[in-house]
Amino acid sequence: MGRLWPLGLREVVLAGGSTLGDWQQRNHDRTLPHCAEQVVASGALRNLERAARGQPGAEPHEGMHFSDSDVYKVLEALAWDSVRGAGTATSEFAEQALGLIERAQRPDGYLNSWAQGQRPDLVWKDLRWGHELYCAGHLLQAAVAERRAGWGERLSEVSNRLVGHLLQTFSRREGDGGLVGVCGHPLVETALVEHYRCTGDAAALELAQRQVELRGRPDVGLPTTGLLGDRRFPLSYFLHHVPVRERTSATGHAVRELYLQAGVVDVATETGDTGLLAASEAIWEDLFSKKTYVTGAHGSRHRDESIGDPYELPSDRAYAETCAAIASFQWNWRLLLATGQARYAREMEQVFWNTVAGSVSREGTAFYYSNSLQVRTGHDAGDEDSPDHRLPWYQCACCPPNLARLLGSIQAYLVTRDGSGLQVHMPFSGTISTRVAGTAVELALRTGHPWEGATTIDVLGCDSSVAWELSFRAPDGQGPGEVLLSLNGQRAQASSDGGYLRLSRRWAPGDRLEISAPMPVRTIEPHWRADALRGCVAFQRGPLLYCLEAQDLDGGAAVEDVTLEGTGTPEVTGEVPEALDGYVKFALVARGSGTDGPPRPLYRDRAAPPAGARPVPLTLVPYFARGNRELAPMRVWVPTAPAGAPADGRAATATREADSGETEVPGAGVPGAEAPANRAEQTASSVVTSES
Ligand SMILES: [Zn+2]
Repeated sequence: MGRLWPLGLREVVLAGGSTLGDWQQRNHDRTLPHCAEQVVASGALRNLERAARGQPGAEPHEGMHFSDSDVYKVLEALAWDSVRGAGTATSEFAEQALGLIERAQRPDGYLNSWAQGQRPDLVWKDLRWGHELYCAGHLLQAAVAERRAGWGERLSEVSNRLVGHLLQTFSRREGDGGLVGVCGHPLVETALVEHYRCTGDAAALELAQRQVELRGRPDVGLPTTGLLGDRRFPLSYFLHHVPVRERTSATGHAVRELYLQAGVVDVATETGDTGLLAASEAIWEDLFSKKTYVTGAHGSRHRDESIGDPYELPSDRAYAETCAAIASFQWNWRLLLATGQARYAREMEQVFWNTVAGSVSREGTAFYYSNSLQVRTGHDAGDEDSPDHRLPWYQCACCPPNLARLLGSIQAYLVTRDGSGLQVHMPFSGTISTRVAGTAVELALRTGHPWEGATTIDVLGCDSSVAWELSFRAPDGQGPGEVLLSLNGQRAQASSDGGYLRLSRRWAPGDRLEISAPMPVRTIEPHWRADALRGCVAFQRGPLLYCLEAQDLDGGAAVEDVTLEGTGTPEVTGEVPEALDGYVKFALVARGSGTDGPPRPLYRDRAAPPAGARPVPLTLVPYFARGNRELAPMRVWVPTAPAGAPADGRAATATREADSGETEVPGAGVPGAEAPANRAEQTASSVVTSES
């Protein structure tokens, strides 16, 4: 099984001066050194040092008990980064960390600084909270990166010994002294499969398969010593409530669910298990049809960092953890490889540009853990659970190094190949040098993505006697017919299949394919069951969602009090707020109105007169760029019914008559009846009525 194949790590190179290329350079210059500094400052390296010294309990553990995973993720990011040839960032840190990891590992291969440094008696005793397999998984992933990048052999040697220990501990059956159990935090599944892909060690794949099959079985325990001291978390939090093959609903802790599903697809792909793949696709259907933010993010509840109910998608309390976005990207990547379906590439693009990209500051040294879609005036940002701005680091520091490892390897997720050709899933500027249909191919791509819809692909080298297919994913929301192709200056026709434009021919050096896709501003409306979003719309252009930030509102109107006027689509402008110059190429402008009448009670009689309104021009900026100026309230979803009016348009009409005294602006002030969100609601209501 597996329809598409990744390209080699060095086969795609991003161009400097392009958005993605510049972000990857920023990752090298700023984010990686920052992460290394913070990992040292947080005590994560000292924890490994204590484990190496072997005097359990002599000094307390610093930070979270799974802090080893932060070190491993930074090393993984450094390994990916090394292939760019820009010099290895922070080699001093790497040398120190590698030395400590080697010294800390026990002779039997076990490695975990918390258990070794504090409670050796608890080794493998608390699978529920211990995170031992989770940390092991991140070590294995770092070693996979080291192998693929050719960064050395030290992590790989530690990883081989650790895998040997895991096989010894978990592969034997109960009664043979083996441990039958799964980790409270999935991750090791996908790491074991990646280890197998690199080494050919089939026992690692079998162990991954076993971990997937054991999960959720009622006869398999999730032993705990009460490490975190409470019993309130249900088994669904750990995704251990129902066997993987029997589940149909995405649930539990968002990051755990998404990492688990990535591992499920990995196991299904390598074992050819179509039933297991179908089980993961069923979870995907549930998640992406009912439980996904418009930003592609997941996790509607701060409590338990969980996914939440169907259509429970509050903007202001969105948890939307950065790690969940990265895990979703990884799961969709695996589904894309397994099936070749464009919908998975679409979700990768959506979550990358709108959650992953904005989780890091423009400077590259501050990060969101939760990526809410609205920050209210007066937001209580008391701790790191829900700050209104990016923080330089977190006590639970899973997200920043996760971001660093994805940005360090992002070029590897843009293009795939199969037996007949190449598939470009996301436009980028750079080069592709690979082999297709048995022949060497070299291409150069130029695009203004994510700001412009045109991409030019030049064939620099290939064997012109061999035919192969070049496929390009049609931009989201556009039919293939809206994308114009030009081959060597002549209009070209491509076949359209499954969301991809496909052009098969004997390509020759000098060939130039120009792809011109319109990039209109799209008005997005929510499903009516997403109550928290009713009566609102969001705007997206290309892959980028936009948002309102308070500093762009005229006269200090509050973002909570503005309404979109009329049904017109915002216009694109190159006049961006000065402070975002160089980071944002286009903003959107729209007509709005603001309510600034006297304060009204929180609740009132519905028959009371509406509040007054005044025109407020709206400027929207890309959501990824939010929070890079002085802190300010922000929202993605913009109401279409005036503040102070019920959503049925009754009072809105009164507002218009009372305020303007004239009717010169068609559509202005008559939201509700004409607003897309409400149109959908009425349509649905009438269907329900007619059927009932
Ligand atoms: Zn995280």
